[in-house]
Amino acid sequence: MAEPLLTAHRITKSFGAIKATDTLSLEVHTGEIHAVIGPNGAGKTTAIGQLSGELKSDAGRIYFSGREITRLSVHKRAHLGLARSYQITSIFMNFTAEDNVAMAIQAHDGHSFKFWKPARLDPKLREPARKTLQEIGLSHRAHKMASNLSHGEQRQLELAMALATHPSLLLLDEPMAGMGPASTNRMVDLLQNLKGKTTILMVEHDMRAVFALADRITVLVYGRAIVTGTPEQIRSDPAVQLAYLGKEG
Ligand code: ATP
Repeated sequence: MAEPLLTAHRITKSFGAIKATDTLSLEVHTGEIHAVIGPNGAGKTTAIGQLSGELKSDAGRIYFSGREITRLSVHKRAHLGLARSYQITSIFMNFTAEDNVAMAIQAHDGHSFKFWKPARLDPKLREPARKTLQEIGLSHRAHKMASNLSHGEQRQLELAMALATHPSLLLLDEPMAGMGPASTNRMVDLLQNLKGKTTILMVEHDMRAVFALADRITVLVYGRAIVTGTPEQIRSDPAVQLAYLGKEG
């Protein structure tokens, strides 16, 4: 089997006495949608932070695209193609959807956000921004202020901002959070369409979405991966049912 795109080897992160992740190991293979699930407080968001570089690991190693990235900054990881889609907080609400995507491309290209004005005008940024909004199904909202988009559309915009930089691995932390059923279905379709183009590691509580999308699932309990498998394997795993999914799992 080919080398994994991303390998986390026994990564650990403590907050005071709490071990949020505890010798957590997982592998993400090129082309897959890999979901991380687990009870509240299992360490899922912490793990995403360690992989993206926002959180410095206390121990363990992380490899991406054949090189060790354990100590690389968020920015350097992003340049290697490892992107995290941020929660809505990363959106500039007083700019249009298209401006936001153009600025995300500009920031990735190494320019300062201070120069946002040219970003809005530069055709080199506008063109790919438009294309990305089209791919994500937001073309009709391109010139709307981000603040006027619905919650679901803002989540789509945030995804567009990450995708515009053409990452080889996209980290998603609860892409369906706060969404109603219609927006959730739209997001599931969008992510389904990305399958094969962008490798995705996502943390998600919505089990219907997870089981619809994931090629493989890793279950985290108390900061450790207790099992990784296909949705079918996870559904029928007694340890998972006991630890997490409950009887109806
Ligand atoms: P949820 O499903 O509720 O989002 P999670 O699986 O993402 O939870 P984390 O948010 O990673 O879990 O938290 C794991 C543990 O680490 C929890 O006990 C949490 O309270 C603790 N924790 C996380 N971040 C911090 C922090 N910045 N400071 C202190 N404790 C933290």
